[in-house]
Amino acid sequence: MQQFDLVVAGGGVAGCSLALALAQQTQLKIAIVEKQPETEYRIEQASATQADVSDARVVALAEQSWEFLKSLGVAESLRQIVTPIDHIHVSDRGHLGQCELSSAEYNVPALGYVCGLSPLLHKLEQELKEAKVTWLRPDSVKTLQQKESQILIETEHEQLETKLLVVAEGGESDTRKKLGFVTQQKQYQQVALVTNIRANKPHHGTAYERFTQDGPLALLPLGERDYSVVWSLKAGEQEDLLSMTDADFLVELQEAFGYRAGIFEQCSQRQSFPLKLVTMPNTVGHRCALVGNAVHTIHPIAGQGLNLGLRDIDELVKQIVNHSADDIGRFELLNAYQQARLADQKRVVSMTDGLVSVFSNQHIPFVIGRNLGLFAMQFLTSLKRPLARQAMGQISNR
Ligand SMILES: Cc1cc2nc3c(=O)[nH]c(=O)nc-3n(C[C@H](O)[C@H](O)[C@H](O)COP(=O)(O)OP(=O)(O)OC[C@H]3O[C@@H](n4cnc5c(N)ncnc54)[C@H](O)[C@@H]3O)c2cc1C
Repeated sequence: MQQFDLVVAGGGVAGCSLALALAQQTQLKIAIVEKQPETEYRIEQASATQADVSDARVVALAEQSWEFLKSLGVAESLRQIVTPIDHIHVSDRGHLGQCELSSAEYNVPALGYVCGLSPLLHKLEQELKEAKVTWLRPDSVKTLQQKESQILIETEHEQLETKLLVVAEGGESDTRKKLGFVTQQKQYQQVALVTNIRANKPHHGTAYERFTQDGPLALLPLGERDYSVVWSLKAGEQEDLLSMTDADFLVELQEAFGYRAGIFEQCSQRQSFPLKLVTMPNTVGHRCALVGNAVHTIHPIAGQGLNLGLRDIDELVKQIVNHSADDIGRFELLNAYQQARLADQKRVVSMTDGLVSVFSNQHIPFVIGRNLGLFAMQFLTSLKRPLARQAMGQISNR
């Protein structure tokens, strides 16, 4: 039986960030149980259209998330493959409403930072090798027993005892189910089609959010003239787009997006992700807590999933660090984490869900309403400010 203070189930970005922050700030004995084997990865693979990585997701990180990654020591080495967002252009395809935000207007270095999930995860894994964290991979939790002062875990290959189990297995977590957490789910009947493309002109750090007949289409700037594309489509509509040739796909994408970002010349492998909203009435239990997508899986329309997850992790780390000399699995500590995060989680979930309703809707009154909204925002700074705050991941009401 191996004994730990903390076992993290799931070694994605959320699980690794939590483990790394705690390994750096405490003497806790930590293990990560991850079902995937370690993969070979070279940081140069992150170059956009040549990308050949298992997870093509690219995330827009808010300043606050970037600061958190800096505090873990991973941000600097990612700088060469991270693209700052200097402008955000929001528009409705076929209508006049549009709105533009710029970092200069808000006197900030960037409105956000665009980074591939795979290179970010790889960097966290590298840092974890330096820290004293035990990796159990490929492995997963088979059974568990919640005792009064510890949890006994049987994985496929090991027997573990821990004071605290943190579940970071993403939206489809098995261990969350084994712990009896109840989820609330809403199917959007949409998928996100993800790919990287190259345009014939530089983007100068501009991100685009375009509302099209088929669904919201986001282009996040990468490198000099590449973009990460996230195209939300009705479930089923992705099939043809996934199977057609690159050339045909680029024609479809150009048709949907228009020519504002130039002519699209190349694209990488395409992947699709089903979209649903998963939330939880409780995010902690006896000697266990959830973080990352295991707590909330939201629509990528506003690029907030990981940003929200990292704020959760920051809070849980603070609670554990402040009490690392005591029993870190105490319910009071876990409950303090849950209470501190409730308001922000609710706000982001309802904002994201609301945006999906408004911007996936092609009914004429909605189209007119959102176009008027975009028009008004362009000319009234006070209306634009909440949108900018959201993009930058700021949570205060300033
Ligand atoms: C198309 C798209 C675009 C997005 N864009 C943005 C964006 O711009 N900004 C943003 O902030 N967020 C964005 N997100 C959300 C972001 O990608 C997620 O919030 C984030 O990656 C979640 O990280 P995680 O570590 O919680 O979960 P995951 O990335 O799902 O990682 C879970 C880990 O747990 C492991 N695991 C699963 N089950 C088990 C098990 N039983 N045992 C052991 N291990 C297990 C998995 O192998 C994986 O390593 C986007 C999401 C999508 C789909």
